[in-house]
Amino acid sequence: MFDPYRVRDDFPIFKRRIRGKPIIYLDSTATSQKPIQVIEALSKFYMESYANIHRGLYDLSQEASEMYEEAHVKVAKFINADGMEEVVFVRNTTEAINLVAYSWALNSLKQGDEILLTIMEHHSNIVPWQLIAKRKNVKLKYVDIDGDGRLKIQEFEEKISSKTRLITVTHVSNVLGTINDIRRIGKLAHEVNAFFLVDGAQSVPHMPVNVKDIDCDFLAFSGHKMLAPTGIGVLYAKKDILSEMDPFMGGGDMISDVDLYESKWARLPWKFEAGTSSIADGVALGVAVDYLMKLGMENIYQYEREITEYALNNLLAIDGVEVYGPKDIEARSGILSFNVRNINHHDVANYLSENYNICIRSGHHCALPLMKRLGLKGTARASFYIYNVREDVDILLEAISSLVGSS
Ligand code: PLP
Repeated sequence: MFDPYRVRDDFPIFKRRIRGKPIIYLDSTATSQKPIQVIEALSKFYMESYANIHRGLYDLSQEASEMYEEAHVKVAKFINADGMEEVVFVRNTTEAINLVAYSWALNSLKQGDEILLTIMEHHSNIVPWQLIAKRKNVKLKYVDIDGDGRLKIQEFEEKISSKTRLITVTHVSNVLGTINDIRRIGKLAHEVNAFFLVDGAQSVPHMPVNVKDIDCDFLAFSGHKMLAPTGIGVLYAKKDILSEMDPFMGGGDMISDVDLYESKWARLPWKFEAGTSSIADGVALGVAVDYLMKLGMENIYQYEREITEYALNNLLAIDGVEVYGPKDIEARSGILSFNVRNINHHDVANYLSENYNICIRSGHHCALPLMKRLGLKGTARASFYIYNVREDVDILLEAISSLVGSS
């Protein structure tokens, strides 16, 4: 049985009090808190095993290299990739997507090609494509959402053409919480021989994601949203594609030979990891993956759905609160964006913080095109993870009810 109270005990931050009260952390969509296992692994690595990797012949360097490589192997298993060759460590989702944009798209796309995206993408899955579109004279096309905040799947069929070279879609919307049918979208992409990129920033930490099952060419996600430190993220890509791609950055560690005018690349995945990596953060990502796998991604998904359903139903029952995204719990993850009638979203967040120590996000959530589409300046957003318990939701509901009552 998944026990969030036991999980919570692993997170030292929840022992902290602010203004004498506990912290109600409901902002895991922005970044997750860290369990003691990850924090200790990080400091143990620095205290006992730290050295640069792939360079030294001495024991410490060999040990650090093995630990860093082992973390790649763990991530590969976690997403069912074909080994660590398909797992490139980067800083975050943003860098993973930019790597695809600059190494793959810049070299593969030609004038007149098309990239199909959706209106619900995070800026990190829009802006890199705008930069590429300008440089390569490529057209960007967007799939819209329906009134319930789901993608209009038929628009993919209408907007895909023989010129479509890339379809890039978020698995889960960081604003609406919508879980997109990426298996179906991937099939549509491959029917026209387009590449398929999945932004997994909001799915990989929260549900089983199997790259074989979704048949994506690229999958991008961030360690800091899945219990690992900041500064480490992942680009998964099929081995054949990575082999064909030029490196993103040139420098140390990514070569097998360097002459004055030409170089040869290191084997995968090191060809894409130039310079000294975030070694300790990478090792700690492996520990975070161990932690998640021990809990079981299906258990995590089921638990989050349960707590989200409880929060959603009760939030919808408060007069004056509007919740965005699908009302059907099957179609959404643990992200609840909402507004309170006549109260600015930042004022909602301030009230919750000052009076209840509730940490939520407010603003446009790096999804301005979606905000404009919804006709909103912003929303308040509460999001749940493995360490949130019903009492957190109850305090959130009490706080919002009291705010509505006082307005
Ligand atoms: N994509 C989605 C859907 C996100 O929610 C986020 C961050 O919130 C990102 C991409 C960017 O992640 P990062 O800032 O870790 O690069």
